[in-house]
Amino acid sequence: MKPALLPGATLGVMGGGQLGRMFIHAAQTMGYFTAVLDPDAASPAGRVSHHHIATDYLDPQGLAQLAGLCDAITTEFENVPAPALALLADSKPVSPAASAVAIAQDRAQEKAHFVRCGVPCAPYAVIDTPEQLAAVDEALLPGILKTTRLGYDGKGQARVATRAELASAWAAMKNVPCVLEKMLPLAAECSVIVARGADGQMVHLPIQRNLHRDGILAVTEVYAENMPAAQVNSALAAAKSIASGLQYVGVLCVEFFVLQDGSLVVNEIAPRPHNSGHASLDCCDVSQFELQVRTLAGLPLVQPRQHSPALMLNLLGDLWFVRSEQSTTPPWAEVLALPGAHLHLYGKATASKGRKMGHLTLTGPTVEAVRATALQAAALLGIDAF
Ligand code: ATP
Ligand code: MG
Repeated sequence: MKPALLPGATLGVMGGGQLGRMFIHAAQTMGYFTAVLDPDAASPAGRVSHHHIATDYLDPQGLAQLAGLCDAITTEFENVPAPALALLADSKPVSPAASAVAIAQDRAQEKAHFVRCGVPCAPYAVIDTPEQLAAVDEALLPGILKTTRLGYDGKGQARVATRAELASAWAAMKNVPCVLEKMLPLAAECSVIVARGADGQMVHLPIQRNLHRDGILAVTEVYAENMPAAQVNSALAAAKSIASGLQYVGVLCVEFFVLQDGSLVVNEIAPRPHNSGHASLDCCDVSQFELQVRTLAGLPLVQPRQHSPALMLNLLGDLWFVRSEQSTTPPWAEVLALPGAHLHLYGKATASKGRKMGHLTLTGPTVEAVRATALQAAALLGIDAF
């Protein structure tokens, strides 16, 4: 085992979005120096980091500069080019590894990994060629056609009921490699965040129950009563076997569907902290971002403890347009008058529809209290009740 990188070292992150920003906050809190590589001069993480390299992700000079500054490097979005991570790994420790990120970037490889781990996923077919399209099993319809690469927040997806719709949806996606997934009868969705060290030790955050709207996460509820114990245990076991199967080092989010018969099906993985884990900043004694710092630095992992029930509301750019067609700041002061309200804004200059501007976590002494204040906050902000 390599010795841990202690505070005072410099930790780097590929990508400057909000996940990178919250990683930087956690790293700086613990006394690390930080560096971000992101082409956007005004990126949320770049603005708060000690160093910001504003080059393309594949720029050899930018990558050399990052490797030169940092003692270890991580990533905050799964579409960071895997070759860039592989290049950085030639000179500095990188986690998660490029090989694990490459699997998470590709829905077909990701599903093949679930199958290898013996974790059930939705029935699916890979569609790379017209022959594969023609051979699709009728039993997969109605289904969802998803591009194999570069999808997020429901983008790159089409719901198809018939073979004709499938064919035209694939044509509309310019015949790029896709997977067709059977549409499953969902009762709920949930996710688990695990952190795994280089020594194979694993810890996890409490299970998160997620509500999506228009393909984007809207609400996450985190409290023991949110799911039956049997489902929680099988989600935790599945997430851990997926992480160990990848020899994963870092923070991994595993998203699940809960079907109407109560069974659990894995949806997808994210090789990084995840939007559904944000409540951990305010309701657990270790957040998903601190776990990312610890795994990257090779520090001990201690099982996180949840100290308060919590509910997270995503703050999308839409909320800036609830009260007028002109962008108007939401009523933060009223929201912050609610007990247990924790506001997180990502420092993005302009709001637009569907853009993740921040999140609000409500914590409280009981589930009932948290749900009541969350509904009040939602009403103030113009978020539909849940
Ligand atoms: P993100 O990466 O932001 O989580 P994504 O674009 O990768 O999203 P998915 O997670 O694949 O998209 O799907 C988005 C949502 O669409 C899911 O959370 C779920 O609500 C619904 N969905 C996706 N696949 C299925 C399916 N096979 N059956 C039923 N619903 C589905
Ligand atoms: Mg998803």
